[in-house]
Amino acid sequence: MRLENKVALISGGARGMGAVEAKLFAREGAKVVIGDVLEDEGKQTEAEINEAGGQCLFVMLDVTSEENWNQTVAATVARFGKVDILVNNAGIFTLGNVEDTTVEMWDRVMAINGKGVFLGTKAVIPEMRKVGGGSIINLSSVAGLIGSARAAAYGATKGAVRIFTKSTAVQYAKEGIRANSVHPGIIDTPMTVPTILVDDASREAQMERTPLGRLGQSEDVANGVLFLASDESSFMTGSELVIDGGLTAQ
Ligand code: NAD
Repeated sequence: MRLENKVALISGGARGMGAVEAKLFAREGAKVVIGDVLEDEGKQTEAEINEAGGQCLFVMLDVTSEENWNQTVAATVARFGKVDILVNNAGIFTLGNVEDTTVEMWDRVMAINGKGVFLGTKAVIPEMRKVGGGSIINLSSVAGLIGSARAAAYGATKGAVRIFTKSTAVQYAKEGIRANSVHPGIIDTPMTVPTILVDDASREAQMERTPLGRLGQSEDVANGVLFLASDESSFMTGSELVIDGGLTAQ
């Protein structure tokens, strides 16, 4: 019960890593709110957690809307009384080099992956202040650490998340609010299956590039996020947790 008595809000929690994080958090004793634009998947994840004995609420949330964020935080406090943990996990992936990236693609991925993290952070800080602290975990990527040959705009959003996390960390440390970024390598989720891990050959190539010789699974990332959410990481803020099978160590 590493999150006993904690209340966690996870954006993009309907599927993929966010859903695995929500299930793990609930098993560790947290009350969990998942916010997402996918209503059917969100309700399904909510039901699975509640049927397994956890406590979960699904809320419709578009992370690009400040009003939606304020409503989601209000719904969290109304149902569970407070907010201790925010996982800014919602995101989209866009493929394209600089010249292939349209202004519309750039604006959309920046709005969801960049502005979404800013708005989520802004919305929870007053509630974390009320309870004397909190933990914010932002999903960046290895694409926020090194350049990408194929994803110019996506990498820019994840670089923005990396530094925004450090600014949040230094601005709110005195109030007990911690912020850390997580940098997964290629993880086998509904995001990567249609874009990067499209067939056996691409999955094999990805495994060969990875020193540990396998694809990452959502559980690999969720375990790191759990550690940053829990009090076990209470001396960590502004740090970068890389979970990539050694990809960026080369
Ligand atoms: P996913 O596509 O399976 O899940 C992302 C979730 O975010 C979905 O449920 C989606 O509906 C939600 N979402 C998208 N736009 C939204 C919006 N405007 N408002 C609210 N929710 C929205 O992807 P995933 O692989 O689980 O990715 C989770 C996070 O991890 C993302 O931020 C992603 O960029 C990051 N990441 C993923 C990988 C990977 O290889 N899968 C690697 C590094 C980082």
